Amino acid sequence: MLMVSYLITGGAGFIGSHLSETLVKQGHRVRVLDNLSTGKQENLEPSSAGPGEFEFIKGDICNLDTCQQALNGVDYVLHQAARASVPRSIEDPLATNAVNVNGSLNVLYAAKEARVRRVVLASSSSVYGNVEPPDAPKVESLPPRPMSPYAASKVSMEHYASAFYQVYGLETVCLRYFNIFGPRQDPDSPYAAVIPKFLFCLLRGKRPLVFGDGRQSRDFTYIDNVVDANLKACTATQASGQSINVAAGVSHDLLELLDILGEITEERVVPEFHQARAGDVLYSLADLAKARRVLSYEPKVDFTQGLERLVELAQMGRYLA
Ligand code: NAD
Repeated sequence: MLMVSYLITGGAGFIGSHLSETLVKQGHRVRVLDNLSTGKQENLEPSSAGPGEFEFIKGDICNLDTCQQALNGVDYVLHQAARASVPRSIEDPLATNAVNVNGSLNVLYAAKEARVRRVVLASSSSVYGNVEPPDAPKVESLPPRPMSPYAASKVSMEHYASAFYQVYGLETVCLRYFNIFGPRQDPDSPYAAVIPKFLFCLLRGKRPLVFGDGRQSRDFTYIDNVVDANLKACTATQASGQSINVAAGVSHDLLELLDILGEITEERVVPEFHQARAGDVLYSLADLAKARRVLSYEPKVDFTQGLERLVELAQMGRYLA
């Protein structure tokens, strides 16, 4: 296979490290740019194993020179770097804007100058906010209704990506991820996602904390599906200038999630309920028609299969491998 050159911003994070590992395994040349603010260098160990080539640059996307150096000789950019948390953005909206908007603008600008083939950007289902009726699938034609600074930053990034396509002809594709889960997702960060948090609570004999009544639902999506969507988005012919959902296409509420985790882990589940958090959307379900049509995307691993894989890895002590 021809060796292709990829830059993965945020490649030391949860999603980026899986993208990197897959591309290196396929024999490609991967460069990761990450400031290790939430990412970890250990996440990149599997990427160093070849057979492709791997290079790590510790640096910040907020620095244009760094972006320009990182983009040298690159064919495709998978832009994952971000301050990836709704509560964090509510605490410090300026910091979220600096990375997610200005940093993304640097990446787009440097990509245009370097004449890369395409930039695929990690956007988020949070851009939709709450829709009417509340349990309706979220379809890309809906107007964005950001309910947090994080969501607003992703809307902004999408607008820049689309503008760079319109004005400069830079090929850009924004993928709206819906609650991704999988190995390496940090269970211990104060901003941890709900699946690793619940799973490790159960495995450590602790009570999982539920904000609100637990009836809020999410379209939980296993990491392998996201890797697949990114690779498809690099080459799909009708994708440029578009925003496209990436999800499993089925939603589950938090109480269901706990039931299934309890069954798989064989642990007793006694949740502790706390007040609902500001900025959280209540229901989330993706419409996948556009992903199917434009990317030929089909979720490969469903919710329960994903949870079973995750529990098995955690129980074997291979969650971080
Ligand atoms: P993550 O925090 O594990 O990864 C983000 C990476 O970006 C980290 O390695 C971090 O060190 C790096 N980073 C942050 N600021 C940077 C900067 N200024 N310069 C260089 N690197 C920087 O999060 P993740 O879950 O892997 O998310 C990846 C992307 O997907 C993010 O853009 C996030 O907003 C988006 N997303 C994730 C989810 C999800 O469910 N995980 C859902 C929707 C969207």
